[in-house]
Parts: sequence; structure tokens; C-alpha cells
Amino acid sequence: MKVDSNFVMSINGDAVTTEQTQPVYNPATRAVFAQVPDASREQLDQTVGFARAALKGWAATPAEGRQAALERYASLIEAHAEEFVSLLTREQGKPKAGAEWEVFGSVDWLRAVASQRLPDEVVEDGDDRRVVTRFTPVGVVGAIVPWNFPILLAIWKIAPALMAGCTMILKPSPYTPLCDLKLVELAQEAFPPGVMNAVSGGDDLGIWMTTHPDINKIAFTGSTETGRHVMKSAAETIKRVTLELGGNDPAIVLPDVDAKTVAPQLFWAAFQNNAQFCNSTKRLYIHEDVYDDVKDALVDFITQQIKVGDGAEADTDLGPIQNSMQYGKVQDYFADCHTQGYQFAVGGHIDESAAGWFVPVSLVDNPPDDSRIVCEEPFGPILPLLKWSDEADVIARANDTIYGLGASVWGKDQQAVERIGSQLEAGTVWLNEVHQYSPFQAFGGHKQSGLGCENSLHGLMEYTNWQTMTMNKSPEV
Ligand code: NAD
Repeated sequence: MKVDSNFVMSINGDAVTTEQTQPVYNPATRAVFAQVPDASREQLDQTVGFARAALKGWAATPAEGRQAALERYASLIEAHAEEFVSLLTREQGKPKAGAEWEVFGSVDWLRAVASQRLPDEVVEDGDDRRVVTRFTPVGVVGAIVPWNFPILLAIWKIAPALMAGCTMILKPSPYTPLCDLKLVELAQEAFPPGVMNAVSGGDDLGIWMTTHPDINKIAFTGSTETGRHVMKSAAETIKRVTLELGGNDPAIVLPDVDAKTVAPQLFWAAFQNNAQFCNSTKRLYIHEDVYDDVKDALVDFITQQIKVGDGAEADTDLGPIQNSMQYGKVQDYFADCHTQGYQFAVGGHIDESAAGWFVPVSLVDNPPDDSRIVCEEPFGPILPLLKWSDEADVIARANDTIYGLGASVWGKDQQAVERIGSQLEAGTVWLNEVHQYSPFQAFGGHKQSGLGCENSLHGLMEYTNWQTMTMNKSPEV
């Protein structure tokens, strides 16, 4: 299989195209460089039918057989890894290092999840009765993924769903469909027809999936706003949903940090993947005693070390914004900061004549707590620095948000770090580190950052129904 051309949908093992197609842009040049199929409602219905037909056989395949197929799939991706890395940079914009992290991370993820099991739980086994909880596949899963980590976030769904015995239909983001279509095309070499399918199209396709009566579960990653629509649509058929949604992660910096040492770590906490990251630090609370030192160290690091540019160039650290819609949203945050008279410690002006959707790394110097840049999720490289002095107050400010995805605390005083961290309302709290993920570590959001979780046995369980089986050991029948 060639990864960089001929993008097709995979339906029941067949490569499927459509007469109408949708363009795909390189965000570093704003040029169209590929076309993908635009699935019709009928094609989705057929795909759901095939996924349902494949369910019985796949669910009956022993766990060892499913594990072997997942491991084979991991090896196939690994064999094409460099091609995926370069295609990911081209369609998503991220530099090679980030693309490698995503592709090789996906390979590791598949292998790790393949080793996970949900054995029957024996609840009671007495003289009279035996009670067992079993985990049966939830059925046909619709997976809907965003454009910031198109490969990894697809694998976070594919691996546990297939391991649990479900079949799947994946819908990539219309902005980054290429790697996902190729991932699923490759999956045809590892799984029986109908087990793993992909359809591409616009947001309508997402709505058709979430309302489809024969899809049992939606595994969704995207914005909180779209998550609400998904939940509403799913209500009609009481579909299971896992929702991984937006975030507005706070980072709290204590007065005892060494500014120069912590600055690069805080930088990457906020700007990894050009801040197009659900778990980016989006509010940086710095103790007033070290505020200026940390701010200056961040500015030095940004101006001396960081190059924004085409991800395909070897010395690029941060790529462009991925698409024009998001570029417009980020422009709007810059405009709002200027209108409100907030000061930028660095950056602040977007060169709209640039070839791609490039935005300079920008720090906003202590804007008010009720400003848009503090309350909302910009999803681009503009970060508010905020001053704090009282511990209880900064915890309250950090928690004063509809979101609850991640948070981090930074300081030498480990007790203070842990004390503060334990009071933060977030699904993942990192202490003196950030963005550490694992297939064995539950990941999900509190509050409006999501519902349910991915990864770990808790995440695997989300692709199952619990079935309680009770047996009378002394029947009179
Ligand atoms: P988005 O919500 O715009 O789109 C996500 C997906 O939903 C896309 O595939 C899109 O086509 C589809 N979609 C759009 N409308 C739909 C509808 N009505 N019904 C069903 N599907 C629909 O999100 P995005 O802009 O692609 O991604 C950025 C957002 O995702 C940010 O808010 C970010 O924080 C969040 N995100 C969350 C996580 C997490 O794990 N919590 C991870 C990455 C991104």
C-alpha cells in the first residue's frame, strides 16, 4: 500500500470512492494537495450493515485471536511509519518530532491494549448460587475524531473497541482525513472484512452516525460544543457515548521554582502541537514573587529557541494552525486582546500575508480573570500569564471553569505541590511534569470536558456491556 496517494474509504474490506470529493489542504502553504471521498447517507447505511454483519464472528473470536490481529496491525503501521510521519506533517502541519511521537506512540498503544483483558468477575460462588459479571462487546461503534492528533486519537478508539470484540466505523475530521483513511485501509490486512471501516465526509456524516439506530456507541473526541450535539443525538436511541471534549487546563507555579529551569517545561506544556491540544496549559498562574522572572525566562526561551514554520523543514519547532476555520478563531482572540488593551509579553501580531496559517507564539501579560483569553479555549499559540499570591484563591480561580480536563502544579515543595494538585477539578493532574500518557492510565474529563474515559481497563470497559449472570446451583426445574 502507498500511504501518500489514492485515498479511499474502506467498507467491508473494499476500497470505495465517490464521484464527489472533498479537498485537503496543506496548512503550511494553504494549497490543496489531495481529495477524499464524500460519503452519502446510503454508503453509511451500507457500512453500518456490514459492520453489524461482521460483529458476530469478531465478538466470538477468542481474545488471543483479537490480540494477534491487533499486534499484526501494529507491525503493519510500524512498517509504514515513516510514510505516515510525512503525510501527517503534510496534512496536519506538525513537525517531524511531533508526528513521530504520534505514529510510534500509536504502534506502542496497539500492542499494549492488545495485552489487556477483562476477565469475568465472580461476585459470589457459594453452595447455592454462582454470580458472574461478564463484559460483552457493546456492538457497532462509530468513532469520530478531531484534526489535532488524527492518528493517535483514532488508535485510542480502534484498539480498545476491536480488543473488546466490537466492530467499528471511523469518521475522520474533514480537515485531516488522509492518515485516518490510510490507517483503516491498512487495517484490512489485519482484520476480517467489515470489522474496521472508514467513511469520510463532512460534519453531516457525524450527525448521521450519532442518530443511526444500528450504531450502538459513539466514541467521540472533539469540542465541548459538538459533544453536546452528539449527546443530544445519541439520546434518541440511548446510544452509549464516550466524550473526550475541550479543556482549559490551568498550571500553577509556586514561588520556589527556578525560573530558567522551569520555563522550557512550561513552554512545552502550553505550546506542544502549536497549542492545538486539548491538554495544553491554557492558563498559567505564576506566584507573584517569581512572576517577572518566569515571564522573562519564557520570553527568552521563545525568542531564542523556537522557530515557527513549515513542519516539513528540519529546524521547525512549531507548525501552522491546522485549518482556516481555526486560524480565524485564533485571529479573533488576538483582536479581542488588542481591543481590550491587554499587553503582550511577546508576539501579538499575526502576519496575514504569510504563505501558511502561521501564528507567532504569544504571551498575554496578566489579563483579567473574566477575559475571553482566560475563560475560553483558544486552541492556538496565545497564552495568558496570570499572577497569584494566595493558595486558596489560586485554587478557586483554577477551578472556576466549565472545563476539567487536565491541570499541572510546579514547585520544589512537593507537599505543597501535592496539596494543591489534590484540590484541582480535572481528570488528569500532573505534578512537576505534564503530558504523560499511558495505555494503562485512565484519561478523561471532569465537568464539561467529557463523559467516560479512554485508556486503561476503565477505557476498555467502555466498549462493553456488563452482563450479570446468576445461576441457581440447586435448581428445582
Ligand atoms: P469538532 O468538535 O469541531 O469536531 C470533531 C469531530 O466531530 C470532527 O470529526 C467533526 O467532523 C465531527 N462533527 C462536527 N459536527 C458534528 C455533529 N453535529 N455530530 C457529530 N460529529 C460532528 O472538534 P475539532 O475542532 O476537530 O477539535 C478540537 C476540539 O477537540 C478542541 O475543543 C479540543 O480541546 C478537543 N479535543 C479533546 C480531546 C480530549 O481527549 N478530551 C483531544 C483532542 C481534542
